[in-house]
Amino acid sequence: MATPSRSTFRPIDSVAVTACTIPTDFPESDGTLAWDRTTIVIVEAKCADRLGIGYTYADVSCAKLIDSLLRHIVEGRDPMDTVDSWIAMTRAIRNLGRPGIASMAISAVDIALWDLKAQLLDLPLAKLIGACRNAIRIYGSGGFTSYSLEQLQRQLSDWAQSGMRMVKMKIGRPPEEALTRVRAAREAIGSAELFVDANGAYERKQALALAQEFGGSGVTWFEEPVSSDDLDGLRLIRDQSPAGMNIAAGEYGYDARYFRRMLDAGAVDVLQADATRCGGVTGFLQAAALCASHSLPFSAHTAPAIHMHLCCAVPNAIHLEYFHDHVRIERMLFDGVEGPRDGTLAPNLSRPGLGLQLRRADLLRYRD
Ligand SMILES: [Mg+2]
Repeated sequence: MATPSRSTFRPIDSVAVTACTIPTDFPESDGTLAWDRTTIVIVEAKCADRLGIGYTYADVSCAKLIDSLLRHIVEGRDPMDTVDSWIAMTRAIRNLGRPGIASMAISAVDIALWDLKAQLLDLPLAKLIGACRNAIRIYGSGGFTSYSLEQLQRQLSDWAQSGMRMVKMKIGRPPEEALTRVRAAREAIGSAELFVDANGAYERKQALALAQEFGGSGVTWFEEPVSSDDLDGLRLIRDQSPAGMNIAAGEYGYDARYFRRMLDAGAVDVLQADATRCGGVTGFLQAAALCASHSLPFSAHTAPAIHMHLCCAVPNAIHLEYFHDHVRIERMLFDGVEGPRDGTLAPNLSRPGLGLQLRRADLLRYRD
């Protein structure tokens, strides 16, 4: 590998990691999983007096991997050469396997390094990447299957009334219950667009039948109607679902080849990606470019404080998932988190990097 050119910046001093586990405000579930706590793994990359922050929503084991392996790979490298660090990390985990924990660990470090670089250059992250808009549309996301109909309606209508033009709910088995919940949500949100996410809960024929029924309730987005590993199934549902209903998937994409397979299969109308899983800022930009090469729109999965910067610099990004859990956790652990305005999120351009600072006392309170 060629040695990157020498920069005027001193090498990265240190990389530190902390895992925090935070109870949810109510038991949560979707079509295939239930949880009552969420773990966030936070990376701090230091160079001189600047501290870059990155994170991923993963397991504590991800923090262990960063501490035992990745931090040694990155410390001492040039903070301007984010791609050099990214390549070194992806090589170092060869024997562990790229998808899953290893990719989430790389993502958290990569995001911290981009934040650090932007701070050293005194630029907001969106500007460093190269912004093409000032704000990105968001959709409120929650509506867990563990919620009562009343809770579901209240949460979605609160988002709609706040100015969001789109809201998303979880659905799962049995199909009859999903239909009841979708109709209740429709009643509560007026003219806002209704998105549903099955998290792969259905078989192909169940999902096809539901897609037809949902069309009657004006559902415009059916996410993971079947497992996102069933690319032929996604394609089938995409081809046979009502006009105006987008089939979406991609949140479990950990590398560029995953996204290429999904796109080549014609499996989605909109590709989703998550920078906290798919290799950080570096991997997210690769996924967006692949998506653009298929002339398809692109949407960011959760972690809004990070993705609002990236979506402002990705031409084919159409929206960002404003996920209840992550909104809550980001506000608890960071200062500088921007709130929605008129159904959009906009980076504060007066702050360099992601514009986030750690709330140390809260970090210690929830530390694993
Ligand atoms: Mg989803």
